[in-house]
Amino acid sequence: DRANALIAEGLIDGRGLVEGQRVKAVAEETFECRSPIDGRLLTPVARGRQADIDLAVGSARRAFDDGRWAGQAPAARKRVLQRFAELIVQHKDELALLETLDMGKPIQHSLGVDVPAAARCIAWYAEAIDKVYDEIAPTGRNALALIQREPVGVVGAIVPWNYPMIMAAWKLGPALAAGNSVVLKPSEKSPLTALRLGELALKAGLPEGVLNVVPGFGMEAGEALALHLDVDALGFTGSTRVGRKMLEYAGRSNLKRVFNELGGKSAFVVFDDSDALERAAQTVAGSIFFNQGESCNAPSRLLVHERIADDFVGRVLAQTPNYQPADPLDPSTVMGALVDEAQLRTVLGYIEAGHKEGARCVAGGTQARAETGGFYVTPTVFDGVRNDMLIAKEEIFGPVLSVIRFKDEAEAVALANQSSYGLQASVWSSHIDRAHRVARALRAGTVHVNQYDEDDITVPFGGVKQSGNGRDKSLHALDKYTELKTTWIRID
Ligand code: NAD
Repeated sequence: DRANALIAEGLIDGRGLVEGQRVKAVAEETFECRSPIDGRLLTPVARGRQADIDLAVGSARRAFDDGRWAGQAPAARKRVLQRFAELIVQHKDELALLETLDMGKPIQHSLGVDVPAAARCIAWYAEAIDKVYDEIAPTGRNALALIQREPVGVVGAIVPWNYPMIMAAWKLGPALAAGNSVVLKPSEKSPLTALRLGELALKAGLPEGVLNVVPGFGMEAGEALALHLDVDALGFTGSTRVGRKMLEYAGRSNLKRVFNELGGKSAFVVFDDSDALERAAQTVAGSIFFNQGESCNAPSRLLVHERIADDFVGRVLAQTPNYQPADPLDPSTVMGALVDEAQLRTVLGYIEAGHKEGARCVAGGTQARAETGGFYVTPTVFDGVRNDMLIAKEEIFGPVLSVIRFKDEAEAVALANQSSYGLQASVWSSHIDRAHRVARALRAGTVHVNQYDEDDITVPFGGVKQSGNGRDKSLHALDKYTELKTTWIRID
């Protein structure tokens, strides 16, 4: 009912946020924001382009240069960001509803995972910022060398659609806490919560112009932001294909710092000595089908020892009935809609490719709920996959698990590492020496041992190889949005 009321009464606002005002695009163009739940039009959204980015970056630059935010004491910035986090919690129902309507994830998760994670991220950086000390280098008696952290200036943040609020918070938390101004470009597929977050930040007392949000398409607003000469650093989360472009844009413009958080094809490695096979099966199913498989760290390759493979795959298959797609607005739903029709076509295309390459589809593999006008796929498992098949090499970004069998530890490690990605991995073994040995050998930003779902704002998140070069979360993320300045003082 609330969703119907929001839409019918036109209460969803798709205008941008520049200089503290909700604004139409300069060219007054819009694009349609539709819900993947049933194809319903939610609102027209301002279609930002170069001119809109110029205004937003200009606003951020002025806000940075006059010190209205960077010049405030850390304790003062902390209070504003704490208030921002509180407002996110106070608006949790509205934000969760917007997130689910906009990108199709279950309301249970928007409310229980996404909103709390976004609020905790902002609150955590608020708490951190007045506890970071500068340094004095051990140079000797005749001089003093101060090493201080300064904000980089104007930060461009370009984020994807799979966790719109969390991805925005992972950029905004450290960038704003460190005193920067930000221009945020949400995905054209899910712009609504980022716009609302911008309004809440203003309400919390963030000075006008410090956070600007420009919705629009990647090749228009995104490219203009990434090429802008007045943007000092770019925090990008998205596909490896576009991450490559970010580096080109920086090279073609002002060599702005680029931090890429990109795709993954994470391996979940189960050894025959594990005494937690049932929990492992529940964990891999819960993780690959979470968020409809639209997670960068989804464990999309299941590597399992051949001796236990049949038994283990059977346990995973026993889980799939729990993840049948259903109405995302129903509080009991655990798997919702894919973000749009293009994503549905992509996922079904990979399923087709799996069949063609000779993998065996042992669960799902079909579109569901087509009568709703939304975009749903059943939880899908392919057995008999080889690591050189398309469905093992490429990120599908849908609820599709590829099962690959191995015969010994060396082969398991080799298969896991034979990937252009290196975001996360998981190893399941009851032998502490094997668990450590394999964890050490796996090339990934994060390795989980006998679990997959622990997560916390205190730990860095990011990948190696073509999964990117940045780290979100934790105090390390502050490094991205600060410069080190050295000041030498002669004192003899
Ligand atoms: P995408 O790369 O298509 O788009 C991401 C953002 O970049 C969007 O805002 C888009 O509008 C913009 N963009 C697209 N083309 C652009 C261009 N030429 N110039 C500037 N901006 C451009 O990715 P997506 O489909 O939105 O998101 C899914 C991807 O994000 C997956 O690959 C997933 O693994 C990755 N991801 C990574 C992490 C991580 O932390 N490593 C987290 C979430 C998602």
